[in-house]
Amino acid sequence: MKHKSIAIDGPSGAGKSTMAKALAAKLGFLYVDTGAIYRTLGLFALRQGAAPSDWAEVEPLLPKVSIRMAYAADGLQHMYLGGEDVTEAIRHPEVSTAASQISAIPEVRAFLMDMQRDMAEAYNVIMDGRDIGTVVLPNADLKLFLTASTEARARRRYAELVARGEQVDYDTVLSDIIERDDRDTNRAAAPLRQAEDAVLVDTSGKTLEESLAALLHIVQERLA
Ligand code: C5P
Repeated sequence: MKHKSIAIDGPSGAGKSTMAKALAAKLGFLYVDTGAIYRTLGLFALRQGAAPSDWAEVEPLLPKVSIRMAYAADGLQHMYLGGEDVTEAIRHPEVSTAASQISAIPEVRAFLMDMQRDMAEAYNVIMDGRDIGTVVLPNADLKLFLTASTEARARRRYAELVARGEQVDYDTVLSDIIERDDRDTNRAAAPLRQAEDAVLVDTSGKTLEESLAALLHIVQERLA
């Protein structure tokens, strides 16, 4: 049976994961966070002392790494590196940078592709990332491109990190976002861009509830 899929792409901090989680709960779909997969590999590279931006250092790690995802009863996606649950560990800012660096390597993207496509084969999914609508699921039933101003995204990311007890300052969060946007958008392999048939939603001036209502409206209209 063919399953339904919704692709959500956009830059860091646009609200993709919050929106995707809420939509998945409403629709009874599985939420697949593909950034978490790149983060888990980025964490492995850091732990192995390899430079995540250097293919020569990353290549020997691929046959050794074991990345698995599993879902808790509440639908939360957990990431496992070997047998270890790294769901929390992959959220640290240095892992964000490592994920962004390692994901620019074309061979890494190819290596992690099946894992993402297999999920969409097996379940109705809402999958978020940077290249879901353009590369991973080009035939998705609905494609959304979520964005917001750089400042709005940095403010949200800062609040998220502070709520998690991280010691961060706003200017560093802002410059990390600008750097990641630049790398994600300008890389040669599967750069961040809006698919031609994606619906653009700008969440800059919107509350969470307003953004979710806007997305639900689009989903109901397009996926009826
Ligand atoms: O979405 P998240 O911020 O967790 O992703 C971490 C990094 O992984 C991004 O900055 C991006 O470089 C990379 N990524 C990607 N393609 C995806 C998902 C994430 O290149 N589909």
